[in-house]
Amino acid sequence: MIIIIALIFSAAMLTGVMLIAWRSFGRPRHALVWAIAFAVATVEWIANLGLRIQAPDNAPLYAAIAGLGCLSNALIAAGFAQRSRPDAALTPYLLAAAVAALLIAGAATVVPHLGVRDATGLLFGGTMMAISTAHVGRRFRTASLPERSVTLMLMLFALIDLAMAAAAFRQGVTGTGDPLQLYRTILILLYPPAFIGVGLFSVFLVASDLAETMRMLATSDMLTGIYNRRGFEDSAERAIRNAQRQRQPLAVVVADIDRFKAINDRYGHGVGDRALRHFAGRIERLVRRGDLIGRIGGEEFALLLVNTRAQDAIEVVERIRRDIAAMPVNGPDRIVMTASFGVTGLRPGDISLASLLARADRALYQSKIGGRDRVTSAEELEDA
Ligand code: GH3
Ligand code: MG
Ligand code: MG
Repeated sequence: MIIIIALIFSAAMLTGVMLIAWRSFGRPRHALVWAIAFAVATVEWIANLGLRIQAPDNAPLYAAIAGLGCLSNALIAAGFAQRSRPDAALTPYLLAAAVAALLIAGAATVVPHLGVRDATGLLFGGTMMAISTAHVGRRFRTASLPERSVTLMLMLFALIDLAMAAAAFRQGVTGTGDPLQLYRTILILLYPPAFIGVGLFSVFLVASDLAETMRMLATSDMLTGIYNRRGFEDSAERAIRNAQRQRQPLAVVVADIDRFKAINDRYGHGVGDRALRHFAGRIERLVRRGDLIGRIGGEEFALLLVNTRAQDAIEVVERIRRDIAAMPVNGPDRIVMTASFGVTGLRPGDISLASLLARADRALYQSKIGGRDRVTSAEELEDA
């Protein structure tokens, strides 16, 4: 009885917390689905308390309560499905819950079987938790800490449900067998913390998802989708520290579109924007995974090529230069643009991005005054 009362308050509290999370953290649909799931669980536990006090043997009431339990478990799993794919449908989960509820109702009234009756809901709950686990923990190795915590809590919950289902099933047809000691022990010791754990970590997950979205917005360029200046700098500084520590080469490139103002003036700002997206897209195709691309100014871009010597970077950038000059921007005007580039390699004295960018900028300036549409490296410049 005390456990049930504790579960009522926990479920009600989790409903409120999840509603607040939904309202404060950008209204993600799955948070609302989870709030409803906890609200249903609250009603389920209240009805459960009523059942125990008022009508211990009321089979239809028992089945209705078990149905609520199935619904709340199904909604939790549906929420995790929606988190991983926002357009995931609720219907299959609701249908599955309805089937489980019918089975329970059948085992409670039509063909009474206490073991099947009690085990079905728990088995269903365990399955829903396992499905949830699959949605969050698909890429456990690359998952964030909140994602890993939720995955572990869900796994624990699934195991608890399954163990309780096994114990409940051993009651047999009439429940005259075991005194269900295992079932009660798990219910008292493990079920409440697992339930609260899943709820709290899910709230934590909603908050951390929002933080991740904010971080993405703050570090990426809305027009092109690549890093903005800040995002590029943050990631580049990290890459430079790594390269210095592991004594690996690295090259930094700055690119500036030639006579871009003329494109804007002649075709309009919208076409200019399309040209910028085209430029970023072409570069993305030509660099390796792990290289960094950022738009660090209006029509200025920066690249960081990991594990690449300045000499090899020149070849990569030459390929980019030729590609840009050869591929017209999509649209009726078929604008062909060119860009100028400056390249430099990491040196032992480079402790931050600033010195590399300054050298690459000087080389870029040479490309501009040398006639544009060309690549200059700071190293060649210094040799000459
Ligand atoms: P240069 O060959 O010397 O680089 O000539 P340029 O015309 O490219 O150089 P300048 O720096 O004078 O002009 C850059 C232009 O880029 C000016 C500005 O109107 C345009 N620009 C900056 N940001 C954006 C943007 O977000 N969208 C569009 N459409 N144009 C932009
Ligand atoms: Mg320019
Ligand atoms: Mg410029």
